[in-house]
Amino acid sequence: AVVLAKGDEAMRSLQEFVREQKIDAAGLTAIGAFERAVIGYFDWATKDYKRIPVEEQVEVLSLIGDVAEADGKPALHLHAVLGKSDGSVVGGHLLEGHVRPTLEVIVTQPPAHLRKKKDPETGLALIALEKS
Ligand code: ZN
Repeated sequence: AVVLAKGDEAMRSLQEFVREQKIDAAGLTAIGAFERAVIGYFDWATKDYKRIPVEEQVEVLSLIGDVAEADGKPALHLHAVLGKSDGSVVGGHLLEGHVRPTLEVIVTQPPAHLRKKKDPETGLALIALEKS
């Protein structure tokens, strides 16, 4: 479990956490709240994320994501559903989440024998069975 505090930026803090802990394969879920956030919508035409600022205190109703190795480093990918004060929701690919007051994150790692390793022949990340 990782608990972020007021003022932490979720993407940066969690990216630092998985790199420091050398977590290269994991699933994440979290609940909490953001003072403000930026979510992204992947625009197929431009192949880039349209930035959608959320400039109000929102409840993090559901945050899910994963960690996988990319270019030799753990890379974090998070999606969030955010609840506004009128009960409506917005959601998308999380680009920034400024925590207030807390974000409670549960990180679940698969067994070591299910970790993916880059296959030198194909360049693909494949599940490598390891003897434990
Ligand atoms: Zn995404």
